[in-house]
Amino acid sequence: MTIKIIEPYKDSGSRTELIAEARNVSKTFAEESGGARMALQDVSLAISPNEVVCILGPSGCGKSTLLRILVGLIEPSAGVVFSHGQQLRGIHPGASLVFQNFALFPWLTVEDNVRVGLHGRRLSRVAESELIAAQLEKVGLGGFDRAFPKELSGGMKQRVGLARALVGKPELLCLDEPFSALDVMTAEALRSEVYRLWSEGKSGLSSVLLITHLIEEAVFLSDRIVIMDANPGRVRAVVSNDLGHPREYRSREFQDFVDHIHDILTAVHLPDVPVEPRMPPSANLERITPIPAVNLGQITGMLEILHDHGDEMDLFDLNEFVSHELGQTLTVVKGGELLDLVETPGDLVKLTGGGKHFLQASVAERNELLASRMTGLGIFRMILHMLDSASEDGIAGDDVVAAIAAHLPREPAKQLADTVCDWGRTVELLDYDAVRDVWSKKPPE
Ligand code: ADP
Ligand code: MG
Repeated sequence: MTIKIIEPYKDSGSRTELIAEARNVSKTFAEESGGARMALQDVSLAISPNEVVCILGPSGCGKSTLLRILVGLIEPSAGVVFSHGQQLRGIHPGASLVFQNFALFPWLTVEDNVRVGLHGRRLSRVAESELIAAQLEKVGLGGFDRAFPKELSGGMKQRVGLARALVGKPELLCLDEPFSALDVMTAEALRSEVYRLWSEGKSGLSSVLLITHLIEEAVFLSDRIVIMDANPGRVRAVVSNDLGHPREYRSREFQDFVDHIHDILTAVHLPDVPVEPRMPPSANLERITPIPAVNLGQITGMLEILHDHGDEMDLFDLNEFVSHELGQTLTVVKGGELLDLVETPGDLVKLTGGGKHFLQASVAERNELLASRMTGLGIFRMILHMLDSASEDGIAGDDVVAAIAAHLPREPAKQLADTVCDWGRTVELLDYDAVRDVWSKKPPE
């Protein structure tokens, strides 16, 4: 099978056909610390008629932000959004959304929850009720019109979410990780249902935009897969998916395609380059890079799983054990890599010599090993240096956050400070007084 990697943005065809189009869109969010975080950088993407587009990427890469910009829920900081060749102002009139957490009104019946999707349409009550009943029938909820959300299973709630999104006959149905709160079987069933509702064409639906972090989900549903890259969020590749329907998760060609997407994703997330050059302690020009927001217990857990599997695993097998969520697993792996406990050649995650040694060591030895690794990381060195130069009273937490923000303006400084604090306290490099929000150096025993 050949896989075409096509341009993120095809500058051909008629613009007026395009249902939603982001041109060179960037989005920056203000942070609590006063810094700014670039969630999207120069992203261009267009949704054509009659296609299913899946956006795939780790959590935090800007998928939801891109979707919200495409449908006009939020404005980009730079770039322009169009719909049918016209600049989009306000909410996209032809788009509707389904969210992961269902977002149903608990005090409304199923029928009245679906009625919300008809908002703005001037219909008689009878016409409304007919449309709603027909839509509930289509999503397999005929007869549930009087039920309340709390009486429904997760899968049924999401069917209500689908009915509400479809009842107004949108041209574009947008789904943001719609099945991730559901068990695997229910998610599979609903995925097929979405495909059926779209392919029947009766609902007036032209295109579907689905956000997911599951490769299988993207391969099952999409005509095109948009692979995003994090920090800042960018479109890394757009891959067209020509697998015929019906698609079978277990078929050879399906699995082959999944593997190819894996490869592209891992090339994105585990590039074979050093994470951070280790500098001699005397270096003045410190390079400060962020550390991932994981706790040391998660990293230890991952090391144990690797050890139980012969000291190395494929990233995607490891994912099954660590979190089932690739973004989260990658964060844990990156943490282990920063601490020299694992290495990641290609798609493999392998224990290093240090990692193996760590697993055999006592608690005190483990802490010592981790502390020595941490003091090799720029961000720890900066903060420990600040604490060394401070008075006995230590340093206010806000000052630590500000120092991090000054070095890493695009990173979430408060979260980074929390992680440094968590790691540093665990291995007794530093002390933190939560009541006064004051950091200090751990006094020698
Ligand atoms: P994804 O959907 O891929 O998980 P998001 O689009 O939700 O990612 O978020 C991308 C980045 O932007 C994240 O770092 C997130 O913390 C940040 N972000 C998203 N929305 C906001 C917001 N309203 N305010 C501040 N930061 C935000
Ligand atoms: Mg999201």
